[in-house]
Amino acid sequence: MKYYDKLIFEISREGRVGYSLPKSEWEGLTSSLSEEASGIAKNLLRETPAELPEVSELDVVRHYTNVSNKNFGVETGFYPLGSCTMKYNPKINEEIAHHPAFCGLHPLQSEESVQGALAIYYHTARVLSELTGLADFTLTPFAGAHGELTGLMVMRQYHLLRGDTKRTRVIVPDSAHGTNPASAAVCGLEIVEVKSTANGTVDTNDLKGLLDDTVAGIMMTNPNTLGIYETQVVEIAHLVHEAGGLLYYDGANLNPMLGASRPGDMGFDIMHINLHKTFSTPHGGGGPGSGPVGVAAHLVDCLPNPRVVFVDGKYKVKSGKMKVESNHSGGICQFGNSCGRVAAFMGNFGVVMKAYTYILSLGKDIKHVGPIATLNANYVKESLRDAYYLPVDTVCKHEFVFDGLADKSTGVTTLDIAKRLLDYGYHAPTIYFPLLFHQSIMIEPTETESKETLDDFIDIMHRVAEEALADPDMVKTAPHTTPVRRLDETTAAKNPLIKYRDLC
Ligand SMILES: *Cc1c(COP(=O)(O)O)cnc(C)c1O
Repeated sequence: MKYYDKLIFEISREGRVGYSLPKSEWEGLTSSLSEEASGIAKNLLRETPAELPEVSELDVVRHYTNVSNKNFGVETGFYPLGSCTMKYNPKINEEIAHHPAFCGLHPLQSEESVQGALAIYYHTARVLSELTGLADFTLTPFAGAHGELTGLMVMRQYHLLRGDTKRTRVIVPDSAHGTNPASAAVCGLEIVEVKSTANGTVDTNDLKGLLDDTVAGIMMTNPNTLGIYETQVVEIAHLVHEAGGLLYYDGANLNPMLGASRPGDMGFDIMHINLHKTFSTPHGGGGPGSGPVGVAAHLVDCLPNPRVVFVDGKYKVKSGKMKVESNHSGGICQFGNSCGRVAAFMGNFGVVMKAYTYILSLGKDIKHVGPIATLNANYVKESLRDAYYLPVDTVCKHEFVFDGLADKSTGVTTLDIAKRLLDYGYHAPTIYFPLLFHQSIMIEPTETESKETLDDFIDIMHRVAEEALADPDMVKTAPHTTPVRRLDETTAAKNPLIKYRDLC
């Protein structure tokens, strides 16, 4: 182990300092002062110095630089994590979002003093409307799943406002992202699964059997999680609307749609977008994100509070008036016609800034994003289909799914392949999702990768497939070169060791 790879406590040497402060004028005084004068309760004062690492400034710089180099990110290498759109995030987005004029703002400032920020909210919503074919957007939800919950609250509100209280079921395809049924459950709705056909799209016959006057709506992803375009979407929209339900579009991965097609034109009523996927905000590690929700004209009234409006040449933050509606079963408390409030203040402004910068800097070229993401995915798919099993053989959109190796005789699994890729400096694809196949490997190259990078990845994937045949045990015990090998991921997530050592 390299010296600077050790834990910071292990490179500590007694008496070594990296930073000196002028002597405190309070030193030695606090313990002799009364509690009122020092402001600190006597029993809280330290008698012995804290056990902190004693290191020089250079030790700290080298230690943390070495630790940071162990991270993998889009700026380290190719990141083909399906359903996550790990594309390159241009630096200009960060520069603009970090401008002191924006990042110094406070949400309690007066409207007059934040006209520029409100203009950005307003215009980002307009551009998202243009790109999706929906009438208006709220930018307050903090994540994709939060957007789903918000969108479903809008859906429920729409039915409740019409006194249609029976509609408590939401139809979700079996290929859906796990957040879809989870959000429906959090919204108090019941989930009904609709099956997929052998070519991976929604089975319209199964759907017809599920539609009745208890259905609030259907949640769909198009292209779906197999990267396949649901060509019967117009028929599905007709069927669901006919039955009185609404269509929800999970637009977390809107990437393939940019410049190609718009959910509003397909017949969707509500959708969310992940700005931290399609609109180029760095993600992974838990945030910050943003999941704007867009709605068709007949649902604008139900959007959450507050909203940014433009009246008399000024941007204003508006909320619907509180009124209590008691005509629905259980007595429902409403906020105007709005479905309520889903976030403190107005969401993650920094992420909105980055999306707006990304959209403006691409300009009309944004129409190439979807087609190039689609071309890249099909190029990788066709180049690897000799070595990996392609369960649904069709033109894909931004991503596609293999079901493990073509030759499964050696018992090398998807997990083994993912681990072996780490040895070659590649991030693993999404594995074991979607749940439709036993050995799913879901690959999404995105539009920001060059042909050379894709070719190198294709070579490595071929090499791993050859290794699986020639030396299966070596692949089954991968990774061999990473700082840690195979972890017990459940224990690492549920019971992480976050202390240097147990001091108790
Ligand atoms: C990522 C993703 C989500 C959830 O987004 P979060 O921001 O992680 O909550 C939902 N649906 C699909 C299809 C996704 O890919």
